[in-house]
Amino acid sequence: MPDDCLFCKIVNKETDTRFLYEDDTYVVFKDIRPAAPVHLLLVPKTHIRSVNDLTPSHQSLVGGLFQLAAKMAKEQGVDQSGYKLLFNVEKGGGQVIFHLHLHLIGGWQR
Ligand code: 5GP
Ligand code: ZN
Repeated sequence: MPDDCLFCKIVNKETDTRFLYEDDTYVVFKDIRPAAPVHLLLVPKTHIRSVNDLTPSHQSLVGGLFQLAAKMAKEQGVDQSGYKLLFNVEKGGGQVIFHLHLHLIGGWQR
């Protein structure tokens, strides 16, 4: 892990970030600057820089991430109203933390 990676620090509990979910592979926490009433970050514990760095060995990790997204959406009560899942990829794609994470965004009144 690069020692300047904020999400590695969060994963390793070096910050006081509260986890909404944790298992051996992922953590989930609230985005510090929420773009909507529900804005979670789903983060694999292993350090992967971005979607560009995914390999065939990450297939089950990525599959599991989407299943976790559906579970968290249900827990947050937005599964039926709907939500967005977003990966920002590299600088031009809006990525600012270079440790793979999936945004789960929802909870608007529509
Ligand atoms: P990116 O633009 O890299 O896809 O998203 C990074 C996200 O991490 C941003 O939405 C930002 O608000 C969030 N973030 C940055 N620093 C922290 C932090 O220290 N704690 C939490 N919970 N979220 C953070
Ligand atoms: Zn990292």
